[in-house]
Amino acid sequence: MDKAPYSCVPYCERVGNLHIHTLASDGSASHDAVAQAATKAGLDFIIVTDHDVYLPAHQGWKGGVLLLVGQELRALESSHGNHLLVIGAQEDLLGHAGDPQHLIDTVAEYGGQSYIAHPIDLASKAARERSFNWDQWSVQGYSGIEIWNYMSEFKSHLDTVGRMLLYVFFPSLAIRGPFASTLSAWDQALMHRDVWAIGGSDAHAITYKRGLFKRQVFSYEHLFRMVNTHILVEQQWNGDLAHDAGLVYDALAKGRSFVAYDGLASARGFDFNAVYNEATYTIGESVSLEAEGNGWPVRFEVTIPQRANIRLLRDGLVVAQERSMRLVYTTSEPGVYRVEVYKPYLLHERGWIFSSPIRIKSA
Ligand SMILES: [Zn+2]
Ligand SMILES: [Zn+2]
Repeated sequence: MDKAPYSCVPYCERVGNLHIHTLASDGSASHDAVAQAATKAGLDFIIVTDHDVYLPAHQGWKGGVLLLVGQELRALESSHGNHLLVIGAQEDLLGHAGDPQHLIDTVAEYGGQSYIAHPIDLASKAARERSFNWDQWSVQGYSGIEIWNYMSEFKSHLDTVGRMLLYVFFPSLAIRGPFASTLSAWDQALMHRDVWAIGGSDAHAITYKRGLFKRQVFSYEHLFRMVNTHILVEQQWNGDLAHDAGLVYDALAKGRSFVAYDGLASARGFDFNAVYNEATYTIGESVSLEAEGNGWPVRFEVTIPQRANIRLLRDGLVVAQERSMRLVYTTSEPGVYRVEVYKPYLLHERGWIFSSPIRIKSA
C-alpha cells in the first residue's frame, strides 16, 4: 500500500497512564524516575497530573515513553473533593480553579480537556484517608470522566486494618472494576452529550505506616501495569514532542479511548466498531441513520484479545452478551452503545475493558 511512512491503518493503539503524581506534589519520585517505571511497565505515554503545579519543562521523550504534563486541580474552593484533571491546556490554570464551571470553560478556551477525577471516592478508616468525591454534577462541557481510578478503588476496600494488610500484599483480590455508581453517573451524562472514559492509577507510590507495619503501596511500575487508558492515534510517533503530544490529545478529545485493567491481561488488540452503509465507525464516533435508509441496520463488532464475558450496552442497559473473543450485534435502534468486558479471576468476575461509546443518531 502506498501510504505515508507514519500513517496508521486505520489507527495505532497506544497505552498510557494519565493520573500520576511526582515529588512536585504528593508523589514519591521524580519525573525521570516515573518515566523509567513507565518504560519498564511497557507503557507508550504518561501524563503527569501533579496537584496545583504545572511543570511543562519535564515534557518529552524519556527512554521509550512520551511524558506529557497536565494538572490536577480542586475545582471547588470550599471542598476537599471535586478534583479535575486538566490535560493539553498547555498553560498553568491554577488561578482559574475554585469555581467548577469556570474552570471547565477555561480549560476549553485554552484548547485543553478536563476530566472529572475519581468521581466516587470513599473514605478509608484503616488507611486514614478521607473521601474525595465529585458532587458538582450540574457542570457542563467537561471532556470525560475517570471511570476507574486504581488507587481510589483500592482505598475503598480498606475498611478494616485486617483488609488493609491483606490487600496491600494481594491487591488483585481487591480490584473488581469501576464503581457501579460511577458508571451510572457516566451513563446519565451520556444521555445529553459525548463524555469520554479515561482510567488511571492516581500513582503516588506512598507508604502506609501503622505502628511497626510499613509498606509502599504501590511502586509506580506496579501501578503502570494495572488500570490504563488505551487510545487510538492516527499516525505513528515521529519523535517530535508537539507532533506526538498532538496525536495523544486528538485521540482523547475524540473519544478514541478505552480503559483497561492490563494487570488482569493485556487489553492490547481490543476492537469495537460499527459498520453502517459500508462505512466503519470507531470508538468515539457517531453513526447518523439516513432517513431514506429505512431499516438499514448498524452492525456492531467487538473483538477482544482473550476469551471473556463481553457486554454491549445501550443507554446503560445490556443488549447483548457473549462469553467469547468476539461479539456481533445488529440493530437500528438509536442510542449510546458502549462495551464492558469482564474476566473471571480468583472467584470473581473482574472488570477488564470499558470502552468509550459509539452513538447511533436517529434520522
Ligand atoms: Zn484527586
Ligand atoms: Zn490524583
